[in-house]
Amino acid sequence: MKNLFFDIPPALQAAADKALEASQTAFQRIERITEYNQQKVLSAFIEHRVSESHFVPTTGYGYGDRGRDVLDEVFAQVMGAEDALVRHSIVSGTHAITIALFGVLRPGDVLLAATGTPYDTLLGVIGVGAHSDGSLKDYGVGYREVPFCNDRPDLEGIQRALRDEPAVKMVHIQRSRGYSLRPSLTVDEIGEIVRAVRAVREDVCIFVDNCYGEFVEETEPTAVGADLMAGSLIKNAGGGIAENGGYICGKARYVEQCSYRMTTPGLGREVGASLGHNRSLYMGLFHAPHVVGEALKTAVFAAALFGGFGYEVSPTPDEPRADIIQAVRLGDAPSLVAFCQGMQQGAPVDAFVVPEPWDMPGYDDQVIMAAGAFTAGASIELSADAPLREPFAAYMQGGLNFHSGKLGVMLAARSMIEKGVLSLE
Ligand SMILES: *Cc1c(COP(=O)(O)O)cnc(C)c1O
Repeated sequence: MKNLFFDIPPALQAAADKALEASQTAFQRIERITEYNQQKVLSAFIEHRVSESHFVPTTGYGYGDRGRDVLDEVFAQVMGAEDALVRHSIVSGTHAITIALFGVLRPGDVLLAATGTPYDTLLGVIGVGAHSDGSLKDYGVGYREVPFCNDRPDLEGIQRALRDEPAVKMVHIQRSRGYSLRPSLTVDEIGEIVRAVRAVREDVCIFVDNCYGEFVEETEPTAVGADLMAGSLIKNAGGGIAENGGYICGKARYVEQCSYRMTTPGLGREVGASLGHNRSLYMGLFHAPHVVGEALKTAVFAAALFGGFGYEVSPTPDEPRADIIQAVRLGDAPSLVAFCQGMQQGAPVDAFVVPEPWDMPGYDDQVIMAAGAFTAGASIELSADAPLREPFAAYMQGGLNFHSGKLGVMLAARSMIEKGVLSLE
């Protein structure tokens, strides 16, 4: 089909048509998961009698905010958790995870990262690498790490670490790959880690960083034995509608501990006015399964297109997915920059902006980001981020709807052709 609105070279259009064809099997699987998750969310809304009155804003202390409290219950049911805290006042995913870690850990405890080095922004929270004031380390919380073994979680290594270090109080598992080429973990694989941990220690709190994972599969980590889980509302769980926020969910006693860190000891979840945010948080949760499906389709299409050009892509179009991230190994800095600049050209907001690599707070390498989003920094909207380091891989994610996401991916390829780093002849 000739494109009336965008100037797409015929060879690229032909490659895109072929990539779409190659995506169909994966699309069918995504469609089934989306439908399942959409019904799961809808039934939770209905069972909890969500009503217009829950959208009424509260101010001040926010005592007795029904909308806020019912949203917590709906969210917990959807996640297969006992309890949840869903708040616009949690400023980001890193903040949600920080509340969970500080909520449960006490001086003298040890945090064990079971799936290698955690996501970049958590290093300052833990207190490894660059010094950061107020880190867990400052409060006397120790840290141990078990790296991946041949790209798999090292179950024996995790068990050994638990035996060697009785002070481990919390085990950290990261579902998504973050900025690395290690595979993302499926919920089944997280279940295996949970069983391996429990075989050695019944009493540790198993925490999952669930960023980018929500609604990608039919179950969530809290439904397979994880004790606590956290994520961002400007990624999957906010459905592209939440304007900010984060969540924590899991076993009731741990969620309660988190509530005292989220506000204050003693007050916990009783306070925190929702202002006018409840409606968009409900609506975002309602849309989330569908929007995640659209993002997954965009990722599969990108894998098929760039895989077809000969780049290493991870996951491949037909591999099962555990998060919405698509890595494309572009191999050098000019290709990476051209890719991100092209993707920006397909954004509904700020398409005229040319992204450049910069020193982003919380990250050790320079990072380039393509993002033209309605919500600043929302990576459930089509976006690509890439640290400028080997292997010069672009990590792209999001797409509020497949049709626009597909075009963004095509414009990334067009930009590479125009910059002379990709040839389709
Ligand atoms: C995005 C992300 C985070 C941090 O979330 P922010 O909202 O950017 O603070 C943590 N862990 C993983 C795996 C992520 O993808």
